[in-house]
Amino acid sequence: MSYADFHKRSVEQREDFWAEQAQLIEWHKPFEQVCDYSRAPFVRWFPGGETNLCHNAVDRHLKDRADQNALIWVSTEVDQERAYSFRELHAEVQRMAAVLQAQGVKKGDRVLLYMPMIPEAVFAMLACVRLGAIHSVVFGGFASHSLASRIDDAAPVVVVSADAGSRGGKVIPYKPLLDEALRLASHKPAKVLLVDRGLAPMERTEGRDVDYASLREQFIDAEVPVTWVDATHPSYTLYTSGTTGKPKGVQRDTGGYTVALAASLKHIFQGDPGETFLCTSDIGWVVGHSYIVYGPLIGGMATVLYEGLPTVPDAGIWWSLVEKYKATVMFSAPTAIRVLKKHDPALLKKYDLSSLKALFLAGEPLDEPTARWISDGLGCPIIDNYWQTETGWPILSIANGVEKQPSKFGSPGVPTYGYDVKLIDQQTGEELDGPDQKGVVVVQGPLPPGCLQTVWGDDDRFVKTYWQKVPALDGQPERWLYSTFDWGIRDKDGYYFILGRTDDVINVAGHRLGTREIEESICSHAAVAEVAVVGVADQLKGQVAMAFAVLRDASALGDEARLAQIEGEIMKTVDAQLGAVARPARVRFVSVLPKTRSGKLLRRAIQAVCEQRDPGDLTTMEDPAALKQISDLVTVK
Ligand code: AMP
Repeated sequence: MSYADFHKRSVEQREDFWAEQAQLIEWHKPFEQVCDYSRAPFVRWFPGGETNLCHNAVDRHLKDRADQNALIWVSTEVDQERAYSFRELHAEVQRMAAVLQAQGVKKGDRVLLYMPMIPEAVFAMLACVRLGAIHSVVFGGFASHSLASRIDDAAPVVVVSADAGSRGGKVIPYKPLLDEALRLASHKPAKVLLVDRGLAPMERTEGRDVDYASLREQFIDAEVPVTWVDATHPSYTLYTSGTTGKPKGVQRDTGGYTVALAASLKHIFQGDPGETFLCTSDIGWVVGHSYIVYGPLIGGMATVLYEGLPTVPDAGIWWSLVEKYKATVMFSAPTAIRVLKKHDPALLKKYDLSSLKALFLAGEPLDEPTARWISDGLGCPIIDNYWQTETGWPILSIANGVEKQPSKFGSPGVPTYGYDVKLIDQQTGEELDGPDQKGVVVVQGPLPPGCLQTVWGDDDRFVKTYWQKVPALDGQPERWLYSTFDWGIRDKDGYYFILGRTDDVINVAGHRLGTREIEESICSHAAVAEVAVVGVADQLKGQVAMAFAVLRDASALGDEARLAQIEGEIMKTVDAQLGAVARPARVRFVSVLPKTRSGKLLRRAIQAVCEQRDPGDLTTMEDPAALKQISDLVTVK
């Protein structure tokens, strides 16, 4: 079947299409319905069906591949490498599940994970879904304020953490950050389960903090059967940034997600059972959830969990892992490839990379020079694909498993099966049919299996944030459109090009950050009266955050030494509250920020000036001198 027909069927004969894909996974009880869209825009996939994510990722493979590798952990931070077969992974997950149960974790409870890239993090994720508990992994690079707001939102029964992570050989103690977050949070989890790696000393709170190692021994022979859950039962929440400072908990189901990942392995990633998948993301991000942990394991593949930098001991480390484990599928981000590109190109030739079928890149725009460099070096297809935390798997891609299609540099491809992608005019909401017209990328509901069910605990926010209703018109029924908040254009061949966000979300090295969160953190510094944070184009990281602040004491403006000191303090504040990942590249000081007469910050105009572009229509600007100050600051003299 041609890809075009495959896609057409996926949206026009949705029920038949997904009922077939659902056969890729194991069900404890068959579903009663494929797609319940009676309460649009909410959709329930495979209701009535019972399954379990952990069963499909682990137990299911015991009969055919118990002794094959399932999880390969490589850490260049602590110089360790450990491989777990499916049988061993099964045992470890049951131990972890028994330990969690002993701490009171039951079906539906939340468990928050604040973990470095260690095997126990994967065990804990799998153990949670085994029990029907809902995990919420918080990226280890976030600090106490970010962590506290997520603890309050998820209200976990247990937090699982470790003494420390490590980055570039530098130990990053997690426990003090966690203790501070628990002090700040209003919700108090009953237990904190700690993995002690022996990297940093930990203080323990009596009665609350428990050690994993001793409990694991206690449950070494534990057998914990999977808890069968309805397909619509939440498997996890994952926080992501939006336009407000309050992070959104993206809530994912069980059955739809398992089916979506199993199907994506077959049609997009083309990974076969018994092969190895190397995904260089972090378990704290959506790519890590879908393609370090669940996707490869559901597909019966071994997955590599890599802790370390891409350049240590040298920039050939990932290629050495491809050679050693004969990885067939690799998934990374454009920033990482840009980093490698700065190193010795001979490293690409040093290893046997012939096992690789394709390299997938996602998370941010892939520029042509980077795509060409890596394509020439690897000699396998480079597949850019576009998605979001919300969707859990690609919206735009090239599904070579269905039909081989050419890629186009700069384009993440065509709509993935299941996604009814459209472009609309931002002002009128009208659909843009013609080629090369710029519009907002939207998906007509229902979203396919695997995408977010709702925003955790806030159905109203889910509908208001993402959806718009198109009333019934000209014989067409009422429709709902999901906004991606990305600008895009589609060429005459149907390939999409993503042109950046329509909202105040920025993308630093593939990490999505809300400018509001950073602004709130900077404003907590006593010297700051007001601040604007914008994303500015950067050659290496795609974008970096730039902050422009107005000080309470205007007289400090002329005092360079004082300004440098405040800038340093602000950086430390952001590091401590949000984590270094959110730290702005620079904080510059101005006497007034550019705003409209109604008081709205002109972030886009600031961004344009920083990127030496035309700031556009400024007729509504209150004080024209405000933008001039910024342009004087950023213009290299
Ligand atoms: P996240 O939720 O962190 O995965 O970020 C999602 C956002 O990253 C999208 O809304 C896009 O703005 C951007 N993004 C993801 N993948 C791509 C891609 N392949 N090309 C361009 N932008 C991308």
